[in-house]
Parts: sequence; C-alpha cells; structure tokens
Amino acid sequence: MLALQINAERQVAVKEMPRPEPGPGEVLIRVHLAGICGTDLQILQGYHDFQGVMGHEFVGVVAGPRDSSWYGRKVVGEINVTCGRCDLCRQGMSRHCRERQVIGIKDRDGAFAPYLTLPQANLVAVPLQVEDEAAVFTEPLAAAMVVMEAVRPPYNSPLLVVGDGRLGLLISWALSLSKAEVHLVGHHEAHLALAQSYGITTFLEKDLPPGDYEVVVEASGAPAGLDLALSRVRPRGAVILKSTYTGSYPLNSAHLVVPEVRLLGSRCGPLGPAIRMLARGLINYRALIDRRFPLSQGVEALEWAQRPGVLKVLLDCREG
Ligand SMILES: [Zn+2]
Ligand SMILES: [Zn+2]
Repeated sequence: MLALQINAERQVAVKEMPRPEPGPGEVLIRVHLAGICGTDLQILQGYHDFQGVMGHEFVGVVAGPRDSSWYGRKVVGEINVTCGRCDLCRQGMSRHCRERQVIGIKDRDGAFAPYLTLPQANLVAVPLQVEDEAAVFTEPLAAAMVVMEAVRPPYNSPLLVVGDGRLGLLISWALSLSKAEVHLVGHHEAHLALAQSYGITTFLEKDLPPGDYEVVVEASGAPAGLDLALSRVRPRGAVILKSTYTGSYPLNSAHLVVPEVRLLGSRCGPLGPAIRMLARGLINYRALIDRRFPLSQGVEALEWAQRPGVLKVLLDCREG
C-alpha cells in the first residue's frame, strides 16, 4: 500500500510499504478519511522524533479479522495505545501509560494510509447517521471538549479562548455549548465570524478590550498566544494550555508566582462524548473543512495545511 511517511531526516513522502497485519486483540481498519492537525505539522519540525506513517485523526471501517465482532463497522479510534499493566494504567490514567504508543505521533504507524491497525479496545463505533466528514472530527473535538475537565468554566463571567484556528474554534464551540460565556481572540475575521454563529463574542487581537479572565484557554499554537493568555488571566485564575510548541518557551516564573496563576496542560479527551455531539448535529464541521486531497498528494496536503489561516485539510485514503 502507499502511505504518507516521515523518515529520520524529516523528509515526507508517499511511499510503498506492506499492509500492516493486526496483532493479537487488534483489528485492521480500512481508512476512509484522515485529518491533518497542528501536531502533524509539529512532527514535520521534529516533535517526538517520529518516524513512520503519520496521522492520528481518522474514520474508517474494520476490514479484519473476519471473526471480530467489529468486522464491517464504521469506527474512529482512541489514538493512545496503552499497556494496561503499568501503575498509571492500573490507576485509570491509561492516557498517560508509561509504555504508550500514539498512532502517527509516537512509536506507532498512523492513519495517513489506506490501512491501519489498532487494538479493539481503542475502537469507538460511529453511528450510521454520522458521515465520514463529521466523524473525522471526533478526535480533535474530543481534545477540545476535554478542556472542561481541566477546570470548570466560570458561570458568572466570560472565559477567553486565544487562537481562532482549527482547535481554537472547536474549543470555543464546545465551551459555548456547555453554557459557558465565551470570548475568542484571533487574527482571522472569517474564522471569528464562524464563532459568532455560536453566540461567541469575538475580537481581533488588536481590539481586545482591557480586562482579565478567571479562565483563559491557549489554543493558538504559538508562544505569543501564551504571552497573551498570561497577560489576561486574573490573579488566582487558570490558563489551560492546549498548544505544544516546537522547541522551548522562555517562561518568566513571576508571571505565575506573583498572581498565583495555575498553568494547566490539556491533551486528548474521550471520543464518546465528541461523537455524540457530532451525531446530534451540534458542530458545524463543514465550515471547518478547507480542502480535501487524495492520499497520493499527501505531501502537497501537508504543505497546504501550513499556509496561514487554513482550517482543516482532509486526506482521502480510499484510493490505492
Ligand atoms: Zn490532532
Ligand atoms: Zn500502561
């Protein structure tokens, strides 16, 4: 099969490789659609020194083994493949498993391919009425919704989301559906307009009025976004950090210590609530799709996704 792979020199290419064989307890998935996200773009910069088939956002159909109860079902998949034995797995923190692999990110081939293997335990069924274009947003939407696990949204004051890209919009939408009053600050008027239809108050960064927030979510993907978040959080408030930056960020500890601000990291979320939200038609995923490429043009798709202001780029993996 032809798959989009990155090598140790960080060169990406669509290359021939053997179709993967499912191991014990695993299934083979025929990938229909995959999504390119900010993490993929960071992998191009050397994040986790990943080598292999890229991609972690996907929807597909279980194509084997034939005797699996999942055979023929449309699925999305939890991206962390865990050991089930380490202390963290046993304490219910398997997302932080000490031995974990993450598809397309860490030590395991991903979804920018016609086929992918995953443990059955990672599968989540996609309801029939949810089309592929919606289901491919399950993983990023889950990562957006899990913000609410890091900190409870304030009830009597707005919270601020920094960043109007793919993830910032999903976070804003998810938070607004949770009844939080959401302010969103960004750089793209067209993206901010997408947020306004969810009742979100939006600002171009240069127009953000003075004032501070009990909760600020940083989803801009750029260190300047964290600077902005730290400058707008109220004393004793919380900044939730969704972005991983390539390289390191010089943090002045006084910006946390003096105002007693909490800085909380937040990564992946459970897929079930996200797919239910998509199934109920609450997320305008179509507005987030910028462009669709065939897998054979995966390198061009990655280049396109790096252009400023581009929302979700999808890879059609059904060919080949
Ligand atoms: Zn992602
Ligand atoms: Zn483990």
